[in-house]
Amino acid sequence: MPARILDGKALAGAIEESLCDEVAAFTTAAGRAPRLVVVLVGEIAASASYVAAKARAAARVGIDADVVRVAGSADTAALVALVSEIARGSHGPVDGILVQLPLPRHVDTLAVLDAVPADRDVDGFHPENAGLLSQGRPRFIPCTAAGVQRLLVDAGIATAGRRAVIVGRSDIVGKPLALLLSARGPGGDATVTICHSHTTDLAEHCRTADILVAAVGRPGLITAEMVKPGATVIDVGINRVETPTGSRLVGDVDFPAVAAVAGAITPVPGGVGPLTVAMLLANTLLAAELRIGRR
Ligand code: NAD
Repeated sequence: MPARILDGKALAGAIEESLCDEVAAFTTAAGRAPRLVVVLVGEIAASASYVAAKARAAARVGIDADVVRVAGSADTAALVALVSEIARGSHGPVDGILVQLPLPRHVDTLAVLDAVPADRDVDGFHPENAGLLSQGRPRFIPCTAAGVQRLLVDAGIATAGRRAVIVGRSDIVGKPLALLLSARGPGGDATVTICHSHTTDLAEHCRTADILVAAVGRPGLITAEMVKPGATVIDVGINRVETPTGSRLVGDVDFPAVAAVAGAITPVPGGVGPLTVAMLLANTLLAAELRIGRR
């Protein structure tokens, strides 16, 4: 039987709908909308399109989003200064600050991210927020990891006592997701294995998974032979590949072959991506509510 398709786009739409009401209630109470400032550095087409999608989604739910564009030649000191100024209100009131990644190679990414104050860190990358997550008392959870967990919970896919294998150990996706799935409570309590570029016998690890998450950035990495029949497969990867009919987006999973083996699977596009955006909106509202003491 072909796998059940986990429709992230539909779930993101439902989340946005409920956020609309919550944002409206905040706006009435605070006398202003929640406000997100996004810093976009350079001319990477994919980054520009992600930022545009985030700004459109913010507008749909009533969050005010401002995009600050910076030349790709800006250095670390200039970007740190800019983020610090934004936090101090140079670009208007600000509840959330997001620095779109990747930054140009010559920039010290961690130094720039560290300039985002922890209470405005809606991407959840600040050491304080990472620490809170690792202690099981999260504040801002990195959006993609939060989206994956939300998708599993919404789809009724049990995690407690099950084996989750996460391929990829980035601070943005793999690591926070491992913390979430192994934490106590709904959407957690799984036994988690993290695989990475130095893992030997990747296929063997993957085959043990009840829930297999691919977050690498390599098209076709996960093949049908690596998936236990009936497993849930979450494809976080986003890769642009050229085909005879033009370019298209694919994940890290060989979708047609794996869909024939898996019990449930996310598509790319339309799986994890829209949930990442929805979780960003939720984090921005949370930041705004914390700021005025509503949460
Ligand atoms: P990253 O480059 O920071 O991390 C990639 C990870 O993959 C590393 O931990 C590395 O050890 C591991 N890896 C590399 N080669 C491997 C191999 N052969 N076998 C096993 N592990 C290997 O990337 P990231 O920022 O975590 O993003 C991963 C992918 O997810 C990318 O395609 C990115 O575009 C995508 N992404 C999607 C969303 C979304 O919303 N859907 C959000 C963030 C990232």
